[in-house]
Amino acid sequence: MKPDQQYDCDFIVIGSGFGGSVSALRLAEKGYRVAVMEMGRRWTRENLPRTSWSIHRWFWRPSLGLRGFFNMRFFRHVTILHGCAVGGGSITYASTLLRAPDKVWDMGSWAGLADWKSEMPQHFDTAARMLGIIENRILGPADHLLRKSAEASGCGHTFYRTHVGIFQSVAGEPVKQTYPDPFFGGEGPERSTCNACGGCMMGCQHGAKNTLDLNYLYLAEKRGAQVFAETKVVDVKPLFAGDSGDSGYEVRTVKSTACIRRQPQRFTCRGVVFSASSLGTMELLFHLREKGSLPAISERLGKHVRTNSESLIGVRVAGCGDDLSKGIAIGSGVYIDEDTHIEAVRYPNGSDTMSLLSTLLTDGRPGAQRIALWIKNVFLSALRHPIKTTRVFWPRGWARESVILLCMQALEGHIEMRWERPWFWPFRKFLVSRGAKVPTYIPQANAFARKVAEVSGGTSMSMLPEILFNIPATAHCIGGCVMADSPARGVVDVRHRVFGYRNMYVCDGSMVSANLGVNPSLTITALTERAMTFIPPVGNATWDDRACDSEHAGAKQQIQH
Ligand SMILES: Cc1cc2nc3c(=O)[nH]c(=O)nc-3n(C[C@H](O)[C@H](O)[C@H](O)COP(=O)(O)OP(=O)(O)OC[C@H]3O[C@@H](n4cnc5c(N)ncnc54)[C@H](O)[C@@H]3O)c2cc1C
Repeated sequence: MKPDQQYDCDFIVIGSGFGGSVSALRLAEKGYRVAVMEMGRRWTRENLPRTSWSIHRWFWRPSLGLRGFFNMRFFRHVTILHGCAVGGGSITYASTLLRAPDKVWDMGSWAGLADWKSEMPQHFDTAARMLGIIENRILGPADHLLRKSAEASGCGHTFYRTHVGIFQSVAGEPVKQTYPDPFFGGEGPERSTCNACGGCMMGCQHGAKNTLDLNYLYLAEKRGAQVFAETKVVDVKPLFAGDSGDSGYEVRTVKSTACIRRQPQRFTCRGVVFSASSLGTMELLFHLREKGSLPAISERLGKHVRTNSESLIGVRVAGCGDDLSKGIAIGSGVYIDEDTHIEAVRYPNGSDTMSLLSTLLTDGRPGAQRIALWIKNVFLSALRHPIKTTRVFWPRGWARESVILLCMQALEGHIEMRWERPWFWPFRKFLVSRGAKVPTYIPQANAFARKVAEVSGGTSMSMLPEILFNIPATAHCIGGCVMADSPARGVVDVRHRVFGYRNMYVCDGSMVSANLGVNPSLTITALTERAMTFIPPVGNATWDDRACDSEHAGAKQQIQH
């Protein structure tokens, strides 16, 4: 085996989102030499787009010259919204950080693998401290509207202020004030308090949102971790063909933002952490298994992909006197029943592009019947209220006049992702979705949207793809590399170690093994904190960490007996 000095680094972390940034910091603290490969760009207050109309700096599609931090991927069963940047999804996320309810540990493939209910609280506490979670102190007009509508629907008592990772001033203090690092005893960067512009999902231009580049990743870089931005990992394979990574890995990258001179690079390392998000890690592992770089990856890859059973609806109050975009991106929520949770979401004034995907709320069974009903609704609305209908569809002013209602359900349900050639493009394989459709129509959520419209004098709205194509949208894609006790049931073990390989881990949304029913970033952070506790400090490293496979262990025991 080679001496350590011959490797470019000890660990390569693929992706710098929640799983990646936690891994980078904790590994660097343990003395490892860490490199983080991140496909997205590095963003600062100065280069963030002002509104979502600045498409080239908001949307990520480098082949079209769009190099932003927000991406949308369209599948037959779901439209997935996700982030792509140094700091992963934290640059575009709304920074709502909620603990998963205890019941999720009894659901899905991780049930019974660990004593989750007693282990996880300490990791949630660490994650909460690192991400600077507070109870939201800023309620905007959209939050007050949510509260009033909940009261009118009989669930006002469930109204709550979200827990968020945003630096906010305390009552009586002026907003938008700059302070030396308030979180890490002076070791972190200086920060400014939130001015309630509602711009969290456009990347925070005021330094108030606790993005990963201001906490975990910032501290990891201070401890020597190297972050390679605009660097896409395209290959990972054991250094010696046929082994299971015993002698380390070779990682190949290209420049993600270049279409012609892609600047291929090769790195060597002892261990690899896949943290490229649920979609990114699945895509990479499918590709690597298919091309023979990592042939032993479990056949369970792509199974149990969950969408948090979400539906995006909303209300537009055309001509509204209040600016509904004020506040923080997700300031409050309510529970309309035991399993159904709705949050009030907003984009900042001027970021109206999402209006292009919204239309009049329409009930009904998916398919032709619902489309026909939608056409009828639009037609009747245009006949009865031509001016109001035009204003509802007019993109300008959409963010100022709208509240998006993000509905999530903690119910079991999943789809599958496969690596196949689609019929319309047989030249190469892509991720494609399979399985039973996730419902796009949640009747109780639509009823609540109508109540919000009634209370505000607005018009209730649906997402157009949900009606036309029966495809729900989610910002919370999780699963695909779920935990289990053997490769016959999952891709990683309870310590996030990939079955079939040594010193290889998955730490991101893909290892979440049940529907959480709440925004997942805090759970991903806490689970990664837990996973990192099992890796010894560099001085004690044996570089022989492999997944515990209870089936094989059981079989071995039987043979020995
Ligand atoms: C608009 C929006 C709002 C959201 N709001 C919230 C919220 O309020 N609360 C919440 O909990 N969650 C929210 N989310 C979801 C949240 O962003 C994700 O759940 C979270 O970021 C997932 O963390 P992760 O570690 O799995 O991966 P990510 O944070 O997505 O990071 C993965 C990183 O890997 C990189 N990558 C992918 N492939 C490669 C490759 N081959 N090579 C190199 N790098 C690669 C990507 O560019 C990305 O930066 C929101 C998402 C969106 C889109």
